[in-house]
Amino acid sequence: MTKVNCPTCKKEMIYSKDNAFRPFCSERCKLIDLGEWAAEGHAIKGPSASEELFSEELEDLIRRNGG
Ligand SMILES: [Zn+2]
Repeated sequence: MTKVNCPTCKKEMIYSKDNAFRPFCSERCKLIDLGEWAAEGHAIKGPSASEELFSEELEDLIRRNGG
């Protein structure tokens, strides 16, 4: 087994084909890394999980305010 350190949180994890987020330890760390990349002036196309969550919160706020 090959062990690597997650580029985002530096946690040691096993580099395996079963890990869809390699070389990151989790989806969260992968998204954080992509977010930092985007913050440097690049744009990510398509909706992300966090954007979906954000719009859900927004819709909930709009509903509570009566539209
Ligand atoms: Zn991590």
